Amino acid sequence: MFACPICGRELRIVMTTYDTPFFGKVLLTSISCECGFKHADAIVAEVKEPVRFTIKINKDNLFTKVIRSTSGTIRIPEIGVDIEPGPASQAFITNLEGILARVEDIVQMAKRWNADDEEKVKICDRILKRIRDTIEGRDELTLILEDPLGNSLILSDEAFRERLKDEEASKLKTGMTIMDITGLSERELMELDKS
Ligand SMILES: [Zn+2]
Repeated sequence: MFACPICGRELRIVMTTYDTPFFGKVLLTSISCECGFKHADAIVAEVKEPVRFTIKINKDNLFTKVIRSTSGTIRIPEIGVDIEPGPASQAFITNLEGILARVEDIVQMAKRWNADDEEKVKICDRILKRIRDTIEGRDELTLILEDPLGNSLILSDEAFRERLKDEEASKLKTGMTIMDITGLSERELMELDKS
């Protein structure tokens, strides 16, 4: 048995193997406790090097699956988005549309918080418009997924995959040493069912 690091009770551990077309098996582990502690991570069995995936998001590839491990960083440079591993990092499987929806929610929230700052509202509106335009086929955005441990993937042959240089990999946060105790920030992205 494994004891919960917060309360010492027995942890519930669920492991799911996920077969991917290009990269073989991905192991998803989900650990939880009655006290609310939870942690999820993804481990890619067959690819083990620092990687960067780049893909142009457009209306035709919105359902492309993305596996982000706790060590993965997501960037959308055109709109200044960086989702880095942090204390609340959880692994998730989603698709490109799911990532855009998540960013849209965050920007909507930022817009409400800054409602009396005309400049910030304008920036938020510009970002929201680019996301809408991409989903509806009038624009494209670039998604970059970097993982120094090679555990994150974009499951599409449209995605350009390259090995990260060691000095690039060393600058990335990995999030591996920090255990999540809130589980709230990305819980809505968790899609551990294989639908
Ligand atoms: Zn516990």
